[in-house]
Amino acid sequence: MTFQLVVVGSVALDSVEAPAGRHDDVLGGSASFFATAASYFTKPSLVAIVGADFPEAHVQFLRARGVDLAGLERVDGKTFRWAGRYSSDLGSRTTLDTQLNVFAGFKPKLPESYRDAELVFLGNIEPTLQLDVLDQVRRPRLVAMDTMNFWIDGRLEALRRVLARVDLLVINDEEARQLAGKHNLPQAARAIRALGPKTVIVKRGDSGALLFHEGGVFAAPAYPLEEVIDPTGAGDTFAGGFMGYLAQQGDLGAATVKRAMIHGSVMASFSVEAFSLDRLRALTSDDISARYRAFCDLTHFEDLRIA
Ligand code: AMP
Repeated sequence: MTFQLVVVGSVALDSVEAPAGRHDDVLGGSASFFATAASYFTKPSLVAIVGADFPEAHVQFLRARGVDLAGLERVDGKTFRWAGRYSSDLGSRTTLDTQLNVFAGFKPKLPESYRDAELVFLGNIEPTLQLDVLDQVRRPRLVAMDTMNFWIDGRLEALRRVLARVDLLVINDEEARQLAGKHNLPQAARAIRALGPKTVIVKRGDSGALLFHEGGVFAAPAYPLEEVIDPTGAGDTFAGGFMGYLAQQGDLGAATVKRAMIHGSVMASFSVEAFSLDRLRALTSDDISARYRAFCDLTHFEDLRIA
């Protein structure tokens, strides 16, 4: 049995400046990265909004990847836009511009065919929109969410209401520290788990990701790449690989969740190898299996416990 996976998030036109170059108005957004990554494992159902200026080629691309677009609304107005600049070592990112545009008037409406989904991912968007989606699904087995500093700064009350209703939070390390008010990550994760989500995944860029849950802690490395071009969307891609794998397996057991962490890391490692979704577009299932094996080799070691 497989699970149906619904994702709500942004579908955006991004402008990114990185040491490798500058790309304007390229396909981005939390839901685009998530759904594309998840599409290698399942047929994700997307909920989002775009404006009249959104290129049809991007819609065709998502459709060709098998993404269910019944929940993609197109309205008059401009598509959500985000612009960011990376430091020369790619270690930090400055948001230059966030234009909500059509998101300002968005009221997510889930098609009937989405409402019985077992898995729901509330991608990074305004928290009250995440709540709107939660109100429309019937009995999901797992609700996961992402957020970012933009909403921790500006919409903390609504964000806390979402946190109280989800099972899993995927968040990056700086945002976890900000949300919890604690620098130490295990302490921050414990504080966040007290707000609602019983499982917290902290993404740490090229240091990998940590899973904090009832069973303790599990670490997934990031693949040591020689060249990183554009980290934008790596977190959403991780989440797409993670949830897509759970949907494909139709199982939420601890061992499956750990393998999902590695699948998330596999997909994120591809995403950063090119701008926008360009590397994800060109992937094959052989590429994914080969990198999964490379992850196994990376972390497998003999247990030399002293008797
Ligand atoms: P990440 O690199 O994982 O933080 O994701 C970056 C993606 O998130 C970009 O493609 C942006 O379009 C999107 N994004 C940035 N800011 C926001 C926001 N405030 N709301 C929704 N999506 C956003």
